[in-house]
Amino acid sequence: MGSTTKYIFITGGVTSSLGKGIIAASLAKLLQSRGLSVTIQKFDPYLNIDPGTLNPYEHGECYVTEDGAETDLDLGHYERFLNTPTSQSNNITTGRIYNNVITKERRGEYLGKTVQVIPHITDEIKNNFYKLGEGGKYDVIITEIGGCVGDIESLPFIEAVRQTRWDIGAGNVLVVHLTLIPYLSAAKELKTKPTQHSVKQLLEAGIQPDILVCRTEHHLPLEVKKKLALFCNVHLNCVIEAMDAKTIYDIPLLMKKEKLDERVISKLKLTTKAPAELDHWKEFLGRLKNPTQEVNIGLIGKYVSLPDAYKSIIESFTHAGAVLECKINLSLIPSEEITPENAKSKLEELQGILVAPGFGERGLDGKMEAVKYARTHNVPFFGVCLGMQIAVIEFARNVLGLEDANSTEMDQDTANPVIALMEEQKNVKQLGGTMRLGAYPCELTRGTKASAAYSRSKIFERHRHRYEFNNKYQKQFEQNGMVASGINPDTGLVEIIEVAGHPWFVGTQFHPEYKSTVLNPHPLFVRFIRATIENKKNR
Ligand code: GLN
Repeated sequence: MGSTTKYIFITGGVTSSLGKGIIAASLAKLLQSRGLSVTIQKFDPYLNIDPGTLNPYEHGECYVTEDGAETDLDLGHYERFLNTPTSQSNNITTGRIYNNVITKERRGEYLGKTVQVIPHITDEIKNNFYKLGEGGKYDVIITEIGGCVGDIESLPFIEAVRQTRWDIGAGNVLVVHLTLIPYLSAAKELKTKPTQHSVKQLLEAGIQPDILVCRTEHHLPLEVKKKLALFCNVHLNCVIEAMDAKTIYDIPLLMKKEKLDERVISKLKLTTKAPAELDHWKEFLGRLKNPTQEVNIGLIGKYVSLPDAYKSIIESFTHAGAVLECKINLSLIPSEEITPENAKSKLEELQGILVAPGFGERGLDGKMEAVKYARTHNVPFFGVCLGMQIAVIEFARNVLGLEDANSTEMDQDTANPVIALMEEQKNVKQLGGTMRLGAYPCELTRGTKASAAYSRSKIFERHRHRYEFNNKYQKQFEQNGMVASGINPDTGLVEIIEVAGHPWFVGTQFHPEYKSTVLNPHPLFVRFIRATIENKKNR
């Protein structure tokens, strides 16, 4: 562990979905803006080694880092807020901890000892708590503990936090507990009891929280704050109100107003610049909240009933919209509902269409219809990963005349596999962690929409897929107007396709959405929105 590195743990109580990730990212943002170097990591209590095999309906999007880790979607918030990359070390699950311990046990590393939750699992957790601090790169490491205090699953994490205080000294560790203060409208009262109980549970586990962050729909009167301070054993000025906000990007400023950063700095005795410099952030919020125009965009996908499944895409739209002072009315449209008969009525109000990433056959025909509509009606189109692959299949079927063209993911025996399994994927047996993952280089073809967007010739973008464009067909596609505008210089894999002569028809095999941040909105999203604004003007 870095000798001067300070550790902040964020726990949650009363209920899940209180936004620990956003509070962690906001606190990190405030500390970063005071000149501290900060990173955030998340420890998840479930037994999957990583969320890569989880259905997006269960857990929302799987976020992918530069180094190819499949991680919790909160890491996306960390990157979008801090503008610094995370890695595999920033997301650890109980499954990974146990896997490490059991692997060591099989290697005989425990020298005949009985391997137990305490100390072996807790030691492994702590090693991972400290890992990012080892290089001395960070002043502060914020660790978000997934789940709720009191869950059986998260007990070893909580125990490890308790031990950390002893290991590295109370002055170097801070525990922030995020909780809910419900409002009972019949009684017109804010209730503190659930918070009292959840702090008691923490105390039973040997942890006294230093700061309470209280999610609430109504301002907390002084009386309520005093009661919380008294019953929960925290200083009155460490009871922080976290009101519901219009956008998650308001939270850093709200937390600054509530002085969360100041409390943390004084409790951990951190030396910082003051006050926090957040000019860029405020400028972004100003543009986000005062749009001068608006467009309607459709996101076509099969997991749309849970918007978290497309978190990074939705946030990328927010960033790009702010650049152009354009309000984005995003409709999430289930691909299964689109048919040749209703495509026009479902899509005609849209100025842009994005076909989302995904897996498997369900909803494929609807996505194909959406692509066809965008291509033939000159509606700006953005295909991401599976969305790009479908654009290729649609073009093959309807322009090249290869009626049975398909991806071998959907039909192994198709006579025209325009999208096919990568060579190195052919012998893959296990599903977890075996896709083409993380950042790869891509060279852009001059004179294309892609190269105009990036204004650079070489880029690195993140991947998560098994199938790819089949280069056997490249000439045929090019001769008919679908060009490869981005190619991996090492492998020759097609990374970006475009339809020449269309106002904006771009598909990427990679996921641009993982790299869009408040400070660096993604150029392809910005260009796509710009094209939709043009489209609206011209109609
Ligand atoms: N199912 C496709 C593949 O594995 C696309 C994956 C994705 O959209 N992330 O290649």
